[in-house]
Amino acid sequence: MWQEMNKPKMATEKGASRVLMLLGQLERLNEGPKASDTDATRQITGRILHIIQTQEKTRKEMMSKGSSGMDVILSTLENTRDLQTTLNILSILNELLTVGGGRRTGVFVSKGGTAILLQLLVSSSKDLPLNEELMLHIHSLLFKVGPKDRKFGVKARLNGALNVTVNQVKHNLQNHKLLLPCLQVLRVYSGNLVNAVSLGKSGALELMFEIIGPFSKKSTTLLKVALDTLAALLKSKMNARWAVDRGYMPTLLAIYQDWHRNDTRHRHMIIRKSILGCIKNLTNIKLGRKAFIDANGMRILYNTSTECLPVRTLDPLVNTSSLIMRKCFPKNRLPLPTIKSVYQYPLPHILAGGPVAQLHSLPPGVDDVVDESDENEGTEVDTENDTENEDDETGHKTQNDDIETDINKLRPRQMQARPFDELRVYERFCLEFTQYFKVNDFQSPGSVTPLSVDPNLHNPLIIPTKQNRRPKNIQPPRSNDPPLDLDSISISKALEGKPDPDLACSLGRLVLDGEISVNGESVNGPQEESGDQAVIEVPDTAALLPLHDPDLYLEMVKGTRSVPAYTEVAYPDYFGHVALNLREPILERAYGVQSRTKIFQDIERLIHPSDILDRVVYDLDNQSCPIPDNGESLKFNSKFESGNLRKAIQIRKFEYDLILNSDINSNHYHQWFYFEVGNMRPGVRYRFNIINCEKSNSQFNYGMQVLMYSVQEAINGSPQWVRTGSDICYYKNHFSRSSIAAGGQKGKSYFSMTFTVTFQQKDDVCYFAYHYPYTYSMLKMHLQKLSGMCTNEIYYRQDELCETLGGNSCPLLTITAMPESSSNEHISQFRSRPVVFLSSRVHPGETNSSWVMKGSLEFLMSCSPQAQSLRESYIFKIIPMLNPDGVINGNHRCSLSGEDLNRQWQNPNAELHPTIYHAKSLLQYLRATGRTPLVFCDYHGHSRKKNVFMYGCSVKETVWQTNVNTSNCDLHEDLGYRTLPKLLSQMAPAFSLSSCSFVVERSKEATARVVVWREIGVQRSYTMESTLCGCDQGKYKGLQIGTRELEEMGAQFCVGLLRLRRFTNPLELHNHNSHLLDMENDLKDPRSIPNITSPTTYVLEEDEPAFLEEVDYSAESNDENDPDFEPDLQDNRVLPDPSSDSEISRQDSLT
Ligand SMILES: [Zn+2]
Repeated sequence: MWQEMNKPKMATEKGASRVLMLLGQLERLNEGPKASDTDATRQITGRILHIIQTQEKTRKEMMSKGSSGMDVILSTLENTRDLQTTLNILSILNELLTVGGGRRTGVFVSKGGTAILLQLLVSSSKDLPLNEELMLHIHSLLFKVGPKDRKFGVKARLNGALNVTVNQVKHNLQNHKLLLPCLQVLRVYSGNLVNAVSLGKSGALELMFEIIGPFSKKSTTLLKVALDTLAALLKSKMNARWAVDRGYMPTLLAIYQDWHRNDTRHRHMIIRKSILGCIKNLTNIKLGRKAFIDANGMRILYNTSTECLPVRTLDPLVNTSSLIMRKCFPKNRLPLPTIKSVYQYPLPHILAGGPVAQLHSLPPGVDDVVDESDENEGTEVDTENDTENEDDETGHKTQNDDIETDINKLRPRQMQARPFDELRVYERFCLEFTQYFKVNDFQSPGSVTPLSVDPNLHNPLIIPTKQNRRPKNIQPPRSNDPPLDLDSISISKALEGKPDPDLACSLGRLVLDGEISVNGESVNGPQEESGDQAVIEVPDTAALLPLHDPDLYLEMVKGTRSVPAYTEVAYPDYFGHVALNLREPILERAYGVQSRTKIFQDIERLIHPSDILDRVVYDLDNQSCPIPDNGESLKFNSKFESGNLRKAIQIRKFEYDLILNSDINSNHYHQWFYFEVGNMRPGVRYRFNIINCEKSNSQFNYGMQVLMYSVQEAINGSPQWVRTGSDICYYKNHFSRSSIAAGGQKGKSYFSMTFTVTFQQKDDVCYFAYHYPYTYSMLKMHLQKLSGMCTNEIYYRQDELCETLGGNSCPLLTITAMPESSSNEHISQFRSRPVVFLSSRVHPGETNSSWVMKGSLEFLMSCSPQAQSLRESYIFKIIPMLNPDGVINGNHRCSLSGEDLNRQWQNPNAELHPTIYHAKSLLQYLRATGRTPLVFCDYHGHSRKKNVFMYGCSVKETVWQTNVNTSNCDLHEDLGYRTLPKLLSQMAPAFSLSSCSFVVERSKEATARVVVWREIGVQRSYTMESTLCGCDQGKYKGLQIGTRELEEMGAQFCVGLLRLRRFTNPLELHNHNSHLLDMENDLKDPRSIPNITSPTTYVLEEDEPAFLEEVDYSAESNDENDPDFEPDLQDNRVLPDPSSDSEISRQDSLT
């Protein structure tokens, strides 16, 4: 049949016609009686070979689509018993597969060619003597085919081909012509871990160690293949153990040194790298790491790497060496007595099974810093598990099993948790729905709170707020006033001796006066010492910072209750922060290059231990410990609101290890930081390492910088937080993390966040923070200032939602427009406005959420027509800080109960989680009175992603992701939940729609967003996440985020609500142009919305989805998947697929 199909070509192309004719004859011979026409077959295959060797286009003809050429060739190969015919066919295949790229090989594989070749190999191995040419041909072809056949390793094993090749290697060690293709095939075999074990048992390891050796310019290709094969074999722990037991670690190190010494022109870098590959795989096992240390491997690789550093092309060697050294670096103990927070807070009761109960359940005296077994590393599973997951070469990704699949859980279940009688007390937070307005309410300017209240109400209380007591602070700040009120603060001299004449003042510490006393030191003392020092020039920020007032801030601090009873105030919070006018680009960095110097400095701690000072210069655990005051050390402090530095250790003259305090009543959550540094030398590069970070990766690896505030700069007129630091890097370090601190997981390490800073000013005091600080006292100050902005058009009320565990007030704001008049119509309009419920800062470390909230609040209180229109459209209920205690005490994630409050919404405890309990009850009250909010949004910060985006809840989008058959459950879902994010993406430059997700996850079922959606029935229930780092799209693409952008986002969110109003108010819709209707349709049409819930945007942990850009560069000791800092190798790592073996294709070019 194919003859007919190809007839036209036969007429035009002579060569082609001949080869096709011959193939036709061959096919007929295959179909005919066997063995009768051996001669003919031999002749025809010989002629075909001749033709395709001489006429290139005939190969194309044979392999063209629809041609059965390959079938005929393969079937001949399978059937023939004739050696010459076999050789002819192998040569033909060799010609065909040498060119034409992967497609021809793909055809060969798909037609079962691999198995036919392997069978031929095995059957020929039984004929003695072996035909060398045949073996050469078969192996050459197998080497071409192997990398393109995903199942090659398995097929080879099942066909029994492994040992044939091993024997060929064994018997041809001197016959390089045959040895090379056999080794190449062996290399492909050993890419499969089960094969590696089997090959090891067959003696392949010994063979490889026979082939590899000291520096030689001969046979480098062979050597490279042997080394790569060895490295692949050593991925099996059994093989690695065998090699270590026989003392091959020192051998490999010696070989490496020999190549390093002799390869002076670096022509054989690739071989040196392969030797390191073998060493690296040996150090995957504990025994190997010990052998490495015993063989002086640290010093050998350190010295060779140092010599390689100046030569850029040797980077891969340096990177692999440093990876090996980091893996083998002995684990250290974090220098702490306990990992529990320095401060404990007694709880009213302790929930059984909760995190605090677990902390208390530890017997006294138990070391929770390291596991006892850590020293011996007995945790490592050294048992042979090489056979697991062996043939999982399909590479398909497992579905995210966190997606909610229970359809009943996806349905709103608006259950009434508390009887309405109990909920009635929340009426006091919703006075706007009940109170009477008198005529004069609308005339007296600046009336903050309405005058009268429904007399039927029990307890018509308005919780007195501080604004009532200190009205003078609402005045705009005065620039000529004495800047510092010595009644409220005093200066304790931290700098010894004379005030610097160059300075406006000696920077001491801001401490509160009054009942509060400063640790042992009389607050009056310093004043006597130097009467002239109290001339702190407060930067005049009044014009720039309408909501900031240093005096008012100090007043607010006095009412703030912290667990450590802080008496000091951080200068940045006192002076305020003016948003920077400069662009602050996201740092560009290539991982592995910048960090290398730092990694080497870390390794030097082991190589040159005498250089290490190890001097404790700050220690909360031992506050009486004498701090050396030699003038050579930096001075640290973080005993102020939101501060959380626990310990500082001077490592070298200009390098410090820093340890963060755990969240109170907890033993982990280290990420947020805020501390003060003094006594620095200008113009010197200081290195800081925060050594007890916990997350496996950080935006610090992707261009984010730390924030620094210089008090000198502030006094000189630039009171602001600035992104700073160079050589920023985040990586796994050599400090063990106990299983107690790691949720039961053993063998974990902490991570280091390191940065380098050069201070500009002499005698400065600088502050460092993870993100722009925003304290609870600052919130109180801002609220007081905001209430002062109130006009007679604005209805503004501040209530106390509740008191926190720590005794602080949790403010609840109500903002809307005053009714136009007391007419029934206007009052009715006023009361029928839909409610928008906003909250923020449940996670203390996400200070960005507070800045976004500040933007929203300022917009809501502003006099712009949009703001007025917005107030006329909605009643806003706002809880700007759901976790004041956590914020005050420098926690990263928890409240004083040691728990993540955003996991308590399903069943909040009134005593332990009061803010959540009352916020939820208020929402229940609103629902019970028919005022279910139109929108609920909880502001958060995201530490792993860029831009601003939202998470919402959609049954449909969740169900789509789970592939559950939904035909039998009817899902009518209003697509309105997409409108607000879509609007925001159109107007807010930082907002990214493609990062949004509306999939409901099981792990999030106790978060505000999901509970408010499911239980309160708010369809538009969101979490809005703001990046801590910056944007990679829109107007701010490539820039780090600042407070200006965050506040803008908060304002834009409000504008978005205003536009949303047009889509949700049927009355208004009628009045608007038709294009608005079109827009709504557009917005609601799912087809117009890009697929925004691709599997990569799932939220996998906490608020932090697995991020595409995340690179796992960890040096986990028993991690077999160590990347090599090389992207191509990392690709291999993701899919253990022999076909993507770039090493093999690379060696082709190696001569
Ligand atoms: Zn959060």
